[in-house]
Amino acid sequence: MTTQAPERHEFQAEVKQVLDIVVHSLYTDKEIFVRELVSNASDATEKLRHTQVAEKDADVFDPDLDLEIQVTSDEEAGEITIRDFGIGMTHDELIENLGTIAHSGSKAFLNALKASGERNDNLIGQFGVGFYSVFMVADSVKVYTRSWHKEGQCYCWSSDGSGAYEIEPVDGERRGTRIVISLKDAYKDFAKKARLEAIIKKYSAFVQFPVLVEGDKLNTVGAIWLKSKSDISDEEYKEFYKFQAKAFDEPRFWLHFSADAPLSINALIFAPTENMEGFGFGRMEPGVALYCRKVLIDSEPKNLLPDWLRFVRGVVDSADLPLNISRESMQDSSLIQKLNKVITKRFLKTLEEKAKKEPEVYNDFWQNFGLFLKEGVTTDFTHRDQLLGLLRYESSYTEKGTTTSLSDYLSRAPEGQKEIYYLFGPSREAIESGPYIEAFKARNIEVLYLYEPIDEFVMNHARAFEEKNFVSADSDEIDLDAIAPETDTDRGEALEASASEALCAFIKETLGDEVSEVSASDRLVGSPAMIVNADKMMTAQMRKMMKAMQQKTGGPDMGAEPPVKLQVNPRHPLVKNLAGLHESNGELASLISEQLLDNARIAAGLLEDPSQMVQRNYKILEQLSAK
Ligand code: ADP
Ligand code: MG
Repeated sequence: MTTQAPERHEFQAEVKQVLDIVVHSLYTDKEIFVRELVSNASDATEKLRHTQVAEKDADVFDPDLDLEIQVTSDEEAGEITIRDFGIGMTHDELIENLGTIAHSGSKAFLNALKASGERNDNLIGQFGVGFYSVFMVADSVKVYTRSWHKEGQCYCWSSDGSGAYEIEPVDGERRGTRIVISLKDAYKDFAKKARLEAIIKKYSAFVQFPVLVEGDKLNTVGAIWLKSKSDISDEEYKEFYKFQAKAFDEPRFWLHFSADAPLSINALIFAPTENMEGFGFGRMEPGVALYCRKVLIDSEPKNLLPDWLRFVRGVVDSADLPLNISRESMQDSSLIQKLNKVITKRFLKTLEEKAKKEPEVYNDFWQNFGLFLKEGVTTDFTHRDQLLGLLRYESSYTEKGTTTSLSDYLSRAPEGQKEIYYLFGPSREAIESGPYIEAFKARNIEVLYLYEPIDEFVMNHARAFEEKNFVSADSDEIDLDAIAPETDTDRGEALEASASEALCAFIKETLGDEVSEVSASDRLVGSPAMIVNADKMMTAQMRKMMKAMQQKTGGPDMGAEPPVKLQVNPRHPLVKNLAGLHESNGELASLISEQLLDNARIAAGLLEDPSQMVQRNYKILEQLSAK
């Protein structure tokens, strides 16, 4: 029996400040005190385990206790008890750990407090205050503890959270710490078993020691991200994914890594099978949870990954995170930015490896999630180049349904090709039947086929890949003369320069304001004419799309259609005939000129109302059939 009288101690001044704020705080997430105490219990247990493992002949008191965390409560009395069998505390450690502030979280809290000048209730929302958070809900707290050292004594530390605490020796405690919380009347609800279970599941599902609430073991999942890869089966990964992401699909693949520099990181990142945004579920929320040594800091941290990576799921655990820092201050910290950088880089590297070693896996990923990578190109400057390397498009060289990367495109490009050509269209068939592709085909120059509206934004934003500019194949500035046509070398005689000039002048006069320029072009092979695009920032297709959008949503008016540039093929029989006709039969030549423009518009996807064209067509047929 011990009969020593309790000793009374004043809290250190800083602790008093913290307590004063905590007790009077209006902070709404009061439930976090459970997280803090369970995580302390877990830390203490972990330390004990470490001592047992690290010090072979450590003479541990009560050595055969189960390493588990027990939570019990008495709803009526409004009491919660949280017990661990960890390292416990000695008399001096009690004073040191619970009577003073030695660790950075609380120091930072106080510094922020000083900086703000006044007592600021919001600050507690920005800095957790660990153990002291229990005084948000407690009238009085008793900490019974017995250190792991063989020789020792049990003590009871008690306080009501005002200026002082007492320590007295007690009998009969086992190793570790038992914290008895007497709840304020307003918070007796926390003593409900279901409430406690819910809170622990929410914040502490991955604590590596069993957590028992009223003797019932919670189905906590192990912190598999901290294990080594070889100890985890694919099945376990898949189960963990489903649990953690609350997912119904299987993970497509995952990335599991740890790093020590520049930060201590353990990360397990999953790429899902299904694209929920593609299913029309709306914009996804970020789904990589942030942990510090198995304790949840934030389940949906905002800036942990770039926006375009919002489809990945998983866990990032960094021992460098101060456990006591809350979400609000976390999101913009430089630590989060560093984590962001490391994880994004690793994930991109994983994609690059997949693309190289398992192209089918990557291609299927691309089919389902390529849109996110394209979004990344337009929004994430830091990773743009790496993302560009991951783009895949069909091209004039690929089969329908197969794609090429930009690097492969460049590796095939003939010497002297300075640009990367692309063409946007609704389908492969539409692109290939148009006039734009011929000049490229004749020279064996590959053209990428873009089918999705975002692709044009991607090309505009990125501008270049490996210093080769992206250029739309319908652009007016393309100069293919440096590369001689390989096929179709026998292309027939061209119109004389003077005749060709006269014809162009005639067509321009006939078409008036509808065209800004009519010229002869060597780019055309089998088609008599085409419209070329003079607007670098907006191709005709994009303009059309924006116009449709504007009509739907009432956005800003796109203004009148700008006049187009028309190029005619001086080697085409129709054009040659027209050169003669405009002198002999001006009326028919005018009709044909107009028809030429409309046909070029159709090929460019620009003809909006075909009714006029049909009428004109009849007129032409009428004249021809009269002969
Ligand atoms: P932190 O956990 O960030 O160090 P806390 O305010 O939560 O800050 O706890 C202060 C200290 O009290 C801990 O560092 C630890 O030394 C001690 N402590 C708290 N709970 C326990 C426990 N259950 N067993 C042993 N020591 C504990
Ligand atoms: Mg703590």
